[in-house]
Amino acid sequence: MYTVRSYVRPESLNEAITELRSGKHNRVVGGGVFLKMQHRAIGKLISLDGLGLDQITETEDSVHIGGAVSLREIETNPIILEHFPALSYAVSQIVGVQMRNLAQIGASVFSRYGFSDIIPCLVATGAKVKLAHAGEFSVEAFLTMDRDWDILYEIIIPKGVTLSYDNLRQTNGDFSSLNLAIGKSSDQVRIVYGARPMGAFLAEQASAAAGQGKTLEQVTQLVKQEVPFGTNLRASAKYRRHLAGVLLEHLWEAE
Ligand SMILES: Cc1cc2nc3c(=O)[nH]c(=O)nc-3n(C[C@H](O)[C@H](O)[C@H](O)COP(=O)(O)OP(=O)(O)OC[C@H]3O[C@@H](n4cnc5c(N)ncnc54)[C@H](O)[C@@H]3O)c2cc1C
Repeated sequence: MYTVRSYVRPESLNEAITELRSGKHNRVVGGGVFLKMQHRAIGKLISLDGLGLDQITETEDSVHIGGAVSLREIETNPIILEHFPALSYAVSQIVGVQMRNLAQIGASVFSRYGFSDIIPCLVATGAKVKLAHAGEFSVEAFLTMDRDWDILYEIIIPKGVTLSYDNLRQTNGDFSSLNLAIGKSSDQVRIVYGARPMGAFLAEQASAAAGQGKTLEQVTQLVKQEVPFGTNLRASAKYRRHLAGVLLEHLWEAE
């Protein structure tokens, strides 16, 4: 449980980022699901409710998701279902509906959880994030940046990418033991593993080989050579390496 000295509800993004950066104990609150599990003395708790960030919109060439959109909205939104049904499916795997009604996409991506089901999908599509202080970055670049006090206020996913996703969980509601997202556009393939148990990893050599029309066996071999897998309570590195081929075969056949 956390304690809060004051609660603020800014009416502009500028005001929100100024409030956040005015003290190192300040925090933004999304759905509050993860914050609630931490023991923390928060100075100012900053709500994003007044900023209109709870919308999903589209332009001719991209889908825009506000940082305060709930996971449940992503799962059920017609724009997402039309362009990225695999993202809706990936989100539907997370815990249960009550939790997904609360948890928000901005928090989910900004927190860079290694177990994320969402981040591999975004990397596979070549999505970008917009940060109030640091600016705009590809999700891939964002994952390598130092952590800083910032607000993720928008995610932009380019259209024209066919996304597929699969995962293995020991039980419903658990974290993935491994997940895989593949994005295919007219000029490239992006193969991304998550919950390795480390964070999302873009398998560049395997992706290039898949783009050049190499066989499943050749691409699987490259995946096993280049993607680092680790061991935790859910699975060993050896099992994950094996599973990487199984998930790839599932998605390969599904396409
Ligand atoms: C029990 C449990 C199981 C889970 N299982 C999975 C899973 O299997 N797969 C998966 O992908 N995810 C999983 N999650 C993570 C979940 O999907 C959410 O990502 C998580 O709850 C954070 O969302 P929230 O809105 O509750 O964030 P909060 O608790 O409100 O915030 C979390 C952190 O993000 C910061 N923050 C909030 N909003 C923003 C923003 N817009 N910009 C910058 N920083 C921000 C907060 O200051 C805080 O540090 C799980 C979470 C829980 C609690």
